[in-house]
Amino acid sequence: MHTPPGFRPSHVLPPAVPAGTLAFAFRDAKLLVGSPDDAPVVPALALVESLGIGEAVHYLGELDGTACVAVLLRDDAAEPEGWRYAGLRSLFFRLPEPLLAIAARAFQVVEWDRTHRYCGRCGTPTRDKPGERAKECPACGQIAYPRVSPAMMVLITRGSEVLLARAPRFPPGMYSALAGFVEPGETIEDCIRREVREEVGIEVGNITYFASQSWAFPHSLMIAYTAEYAGGELKPDETEIAEARWFAWDAVPELPPSISISRRLIEATVARLAGESARS
Ligand SMILES: [Zn+2]
Repeated sequence: MHTPPGFRPSHVLPPAVPAGTLAFAFRDAKLLVGSPDDAPVVPALALVESLGIGEAVHYLGELDGTACVAVLLRDDAAEPEGWRYAGLRSLFFRLPEPLLAIAARAFQVVEWDRTHRYCGRCGTPTRDKPGERAKECPACGQIAYPRVSPAMMVLITRGSEVLLARAPRFPPGMYSALAGFVEPGETIEDCIRREVREEVGIEVGNITYFASQSWAFPHSLMIAYTAEYAGGELKPDETEIAEARWFAWDAVPELPPSISISRRLIEATVARLAGESARS
């Protein structure tokens, strides 16, 4: 997930909300969408407002000139006739990608609103801070911004092989690159070395940036790298890793879906190894 081309983000609601403003409205973690199932549509803000089910509205910006807002719906919001609530993951490949990206952004804003109604320091109800995407405590001045949690992903190579692992929660037969959340005080590179050591017991070098991806489940920024094996014996940590193995570039197993950055990272690396093998 990334900022779609044609999207101009903004925090400041225009003085008059334009007609046709799209509402990315969430009841809990589910988005309000209209039929048909294979090409769902996003409602206009006017429809959501007419139903009286919204609790908070946050302006997101304009997508190709159309204003977009995130709406936090009441937990008990009814399902309007002809509309339904759908999990974001179920909308992959159904909702056009720019709308899906805005929906993921909206979800993170709504989730932040929902979880920052009270000051974490003194318990006073918070209010929106003018001009910023922030919640402010009127009693003690504490400010809370939407949370983004950086995480690293790393694909380790050893000659013409890649290291892939399975987490216990993965579907059977699927493998991916290693990943883990950054801890306070760490650089991403520190995190990569620590997580690789903890998860599979080996050392890595030549850590190289690949790409990043926003991931709204619930608020990660996944930052992907490649690295080279630099020593040690593969010893997977049994609590986090069901299995970790070296795979030859031309014999990789089932991979995560193409929407994930892990798939792109693995495919790009495998293509590089294939090229290297053809030249040698
Ligand atoms: Zn406070």
